[in-house]
Amino acid sequence: MQTISSVPASGRAQRARLAERVRRVPSSGIRRFFDLIQTMDDVISLGVGEPDFVTPWHIREAAIYSLERGYTMYTSNHGLIELRRALAEHLARRYGVVYDPHEEILITVGVSEGLDLAMRAILDPGDEVLIPDPGYVSYAPCVTFAGGVVQPVPTAPENGFRPAPEDFASRLTPRTKAVLLGYPNNPTGTVVDRDTLAAIARIVAEHDLIAVSDEIYDRLVYGREHVCFAALPEMRERTILLGGFSKAYAMTGWRIGYVAAPRDLMAGLVKIHQYTALCAPITSQMAAIEALKNGEAAVQAMVAEYDRRRRVIVKGLNDIGLTCLEPEGAFYAFPSVAVTGQSDEEFAERLLLEEHVAVVPGSAFGACGRGHVRCCYATSLAQIEEALHRIDSYVRRRKA
Ligand code: PLP
Repeated sequence: MQTISSVPASGRAQRARLAERVRRVPSSGIRRFFDLIQTMDDVISLGVGEPDFVTPWHIREAAIYSLERGYTMYTSNHGLIELRRALAEHLARRYGVVYDPHEEILITVGVSEGLDLAMRAILDPGDEVLIPDPGYVSYAPCVTFAGGVVQPVPTAPENGFRPAPEDFASRLTPRTKAVLLGYPNNPTGTVVDRDTLAAIARIVAEHDLIAVSDEIYDRLVYGREHVCFAALPEMRERTILLGGFSKAYAMTGWRIGYVAAPRDLMAGLVKIHQYTALCAPITSQMAAIEALKNGEAAVQAMVAEYDRRRRVIVKGLNDIGLTCLEPEGAFYAFPSVAVTGQSDEEFAERLLLEEHVAVVPGSAFGACGRGHVRCCYATSLAQIEEALHRIDSYVRRRKA
C-alpha cells in the first residue's frame, strides 16, 4: 500500500495550506478602511461600531477590587454562578423568559464567541441558515466556518429593512436548519415589531428550525419595545439567545457576553466552549456582575445621549440629501448615497480621502446594503456635527 510518507513531497499534488471554507470567506470589507485610516491624520470616524464612553467607573472599580482580592483563576466552564444567576433574573424580569442558571446560561467571550459556538454546535456540513440581508459582518462567515450555507433573506429600505416572514418561508429547503436574527440591527438600526417576529417564530416552529437571536443591542432602543425572540410563544425551546455587555455597558474590550438556551442545545455549546475557550476572563465576569447589579442608571444615561445624537445625525444626513430612515435601535444611521451617483464603496473611499470622514460601505453587510453607508453615531455631538459639515461639503461638490 502506498502511504503518504512513501511518496516524496515533490511528487505530491500541491495542497492549499488553508482550508477551503476559510479561503472562501473574503477578508472583512471594514478592515481595509481601518487600515487606510491609520495612515491619515484628523479623521472623524463614524466607522467603528463601538461606544465612545469608557466603562462606568463603578464597573471598572469592581474589576480592580476583584484583582486586589486575588480573583485571577479560571472559573467554571459555564462562568461564575453569581453572574449566571444575575443574568437569569435579568432575563426573567425584563422579558419574562425563565432559564436555569446552572444548565441554561453560559458566559462567553463576547457575543462573538456565542455566535461561533451556536453555529458550530447546530450545523452539519451543508445545513442552511436564513439570515436577513444586510446584517452584521460576522454572521455569514461564522456560518461558513461551521460548514453551513448562508441563505440571505433580502430586506429593503422601502419597508424599513424589516424582513418579511414570507421571504423566510419562500427560502426554506429540506436543508434549512436555522434562522439567524439580529435586531436591533447592525447596520440599519431597524427594530422589528412583535407581530412580524411572531410570524417568523411560527415558521420556525412549523418547520422545526432553530432560531439564533443576537440581541446585543436589546437595551439600545429609542421609544420602541425590544421583543426578546425567546419569549415568543414556543420559542424558548427553539432559541439560542445571544446577549452581551459590549454595547449597553460600554464594555467592548472586556470580551464578555452570554448565551441562554434550552438544556439540550446548551450541552452542545458548552462542549465546544469547554475545549476551546475554557471560560470567559474572571475579571470581566466580576465586572459584568457589577454591571447587572448597579449599572442601570449608566445604561439609561448613555441611551439618552445616543438618542440625542441619533436625532442630530438623521436630520443632518437628510438635510444634506443622503436619504436616511429613522433608526429605532442600536447606534447606526444607514443613509442612501444615491444622490451622489456613486457606489457605497466609492463614496466611502472618496469621503475618507477628501474630507477625512470614515463611514462603512453598506455592501460590507450584504448585497442589500449596496448604495448605503453605515454611520455610527456613538461619538460626541461635536464630532457628529463636524462630520456632517464635511459630508455636506463633499456631497455639494459631487452635485455641482
Ligand atoms: N453582534 C452584533 C450585531 C454586533 O454589532 C457586534 C459588534 O459590533 C457583536 C455581535 C460582537 O459583540 P461582542 O463584543 O459581544 O463580541
